Amino acid sequence: MTQKTKSRKAKQRKIALERVERLIDFASSIFDRRPELSHRHAELAWKLKTRYNLRLPNHLNRKICRKCHAFWAPGATCRVRLQSSHPPHVVITCLKCGYKKRIPYKARG
Ligand SMILES: [Zn+2]
Repeated sequence: MTQKTKSRKAKQRKIALERVERLIDFASSIFDRRPELSHRHAELAWKLKTRYNLRLPNHLNRKICRKCHAFWAPGATCRVRLQSSHPPHVVITCLKCGYKKRIPYKARG
């Protein structure tokens, strides 16, 4: 692979990540009114993620169920619990399919 195609790929992935971010943003802004539409956007975002093999930053990663691709709205489509066991972690339970995601919890300061 030449340097040129490599950087073009990197650029495409950067654009794809920005699109994912916008899709999730939009999904959260319309969830109250059109939950089905936000799930569709979450699914689209997931497709982009897998197509470009993106690593999502944490704030996006905890917005989509990796099993059923539902948009996660805390209290509505997912449940967020803090576990103080060792090591401390956050458990997000998808209320649509029951998938549980564990995120290590870092205390600040
Ligand atoms: Zn799910």
